[in-house]
Amino acid sequence: MSATTSSVAANAGDVHVDLRGKTAIVTGAATGIGKAIALRLGASGANVVVDYRDQTDAANEIVAEIERSGGHGIAISADVSDEAAVDGMVASAVEHFGGLDILVNNAGIEQSHALVDIPLDVWKRIIDVNLTGPFLCARAAARAMIARGRGGRIINISSVHEDLAFPNNAAYAASKGGVRMFMRTAALELAPHAITMNNIAPGAIATPINQDVRENPQQRKELLEEIPLGRVGQPEEIAALCTYLASDAAGYVTGATFVIDGGLMRYTKGL
Ligand code: NAD
Repeated sequence: MSATTSSVAANAGDVHVDLRGKTAIVTGAATGIGKAIALRLGASGANVVVDYRDQTDAANEIVAEIERSGGHGIAISADVSDEAAVDGMVASAVEHFGGLDILVNNAGIEQSHALVDIPLDVWKRIIDVNLTGPFLCARAAARAMIARGRGGRIINISSVHEDLAFPNNAAYAASKGGVRMFMRTAALELAPHAITMNNIAPGAIATPINQDVRENPQQRKELLEEIPLGRVGQPEEIAALCTYLASDAAGYVTGATFVIDGGLMRYTKGL
């Protein structure tokens, strides 16, 4: 049996979770997976801080959509690799909504180079955004959550490449592998405070980050051949799991990575 991509994505949005009274920060939320997560958390009743870098109009439109669905949101521009900006964003969230319950570390960048050609500044930028960013955001969020004493939820959008090698993307794979061990270690440190930390590891999801691959017929064909379910995933399918992990129902779930990849990680071609 096959389902169309749009019906799958619509169904993924049906997961019912009540997040009324909770406040969430979603980083890099102006586009792609972060946007879907911000909208889903907002539709579930959470107050949502829509973090973005420079897409002010897109971020404001997401806030407007959250408000139209009955939720509350604010857009804050903060580069996740900037310590002062991150600390300021968390302080603003606490001041505006009275506390912080949920952090979703979603912001990320990808840039392909053969190992021998990676410029040092590209390596550093990818590590700064994809690994130091989640650290800075988690540290600031955990400080606020511990001070309030009501526990919390931290969810990192890592990648199948937290575990799966990624030729021509050594910096990206190193950053996501770093997030894997950062999450496992931080989960133990934060557990006594009833703060959980988990990773969602997406496979190929239709977002701007991989638009060039999806629009190149040959690359698209090769990509789909690697995915047992035979399609790319939709951002809403990541948002559905993220919303569950953000909820009270997931209180006993910590230190774990949840792969959403259409079977990609289990597949070996021709073996
Ligand atoms: P995307 O490019 O649409 O989203 C990334 C967002 O992060 C953008 O809005 C961007 O502006 C923002 N961002 C980049 N640098 C930032 C910074 N320094 N501070 C704040 N925001 C910043 O792509 P996406 O696919 O939605 O990516 C979201 C996350 O999912 C990333 O961490 C990515 O690595 C991960 N991921 C995506 C896929 C996929 O197939 N799409 C697969 C695995 C993992």
